[in-house]
Amino acid sequence: MSESSKSSNQILGVDIGGTKVAVGLVDQDGKIIAQGRKPMIATSTPEAGLEAVIGAIDSMISSAAGGIQSIGICAPGPLDPKTGVVINPPNLPCWRNFPLAEKLVAKYRVPVKVDNDANAAALAETRWGAARGFHYVFYATIGTGIGTGMVFDGRIYHGHTGSAGEGGHVSIDYRGPVCSCGKRGCIEVLAAGPAIGARTRAKLAGGAQSAILDLANGKVGGVSSELVGKAYAAGDQLAREILQETVDLLTPWLGNIVDLLDPDVLVMGGGVAAMLEPFFDDIKNHLPSWCVNPRASEIPLVMAHYGANAGIAGGAALCSQDPP
Ligand SMILES: [Zn+2]
Repeated sequence: MSESSKSSNQILGVDIGGTKVAVGLVDQDGKIIAQGRKPMIATSTPEAGLEAVIGAIDSMISSAAGGIQSIGICAPGPLDPKTGVVINPPNLPCWRNFPLAEKLVAKYRVPVKVDNDANAAALAETRWGAARGFHYVFYATIGTGIGTGMVFDGRIYHGHTGSAGEGGHVSIDYRGPVCSCGKRGCIEVLAAGPAIGARTRAKLAGGAQSAILDLANGKVGGVSSELVGKAYAAGDQLAREILQETVDLLTPWLGNIVDLLDPDVLVMGGGVAAMLEPFFDDIKNHLPSWCVNPRASEIPLVMAHYGANAGIAGGAALCSQDPP
């Protein structure tokens, strides 16, 4: 293969967030060849937001010797994956019904795809990562929130209006705390990073002894879920208890997902999932008691392949050719 035809197979993956735009060149095997990031301008005019994205893309295109074949973008939802219109994401106030794909096609004259972060990351895991070879993929990224995506027979399941895959806002307690979405007892408000931090602070304020407090320099208010992960790794008992409680919330939720979808793999990504990986066997062992699916215990529960670069890989996966 000549150098020029090799590089023309490169896909530009773009990950737009509230504060930054991450860009990367990705090959047809899902390998990230080069990457960089620029600040996002999210609170100014629509044009300023677009210019920030174009600046990030240009910085990467200049290092792609033979140009790029397509641009895949993951952005915060809600958005319309069919038209590439960004509707009204809370952390991108610059864009309201903004035709992002259309603007970038006009500028770069290559195909442009847009989807939300978790859907795109689910597709990257299916094409190139931990869910390769599986047909009914459920993916969840657990960090400051919980995002989920479903990929069936190699295609993202979008539902009727493009709004499917909001598994983080599936409630497990109708009397539970109110989530940012307005519903009660969503798994996101119960088990994502901020909930872990809040439960830990409450226990420490109640007098619980733990190395977590030392890690926060004695300040209960400075305790975050990251410190719980660190303390657990160092053998702290309270940290273990808090992560176990988190697992006890996630397991019935995953049971609901399994009973609804009958997936052949469950993939977990994000910082909180990495912290919970030592508990994956515990989740698997208890899953059958939360499922009517008789084969729930056979479903692999695995960590995602892409970590912090899930957005770049996800964007690129939207433009990748179908696997043979
Ligand atoms: Zn919610």
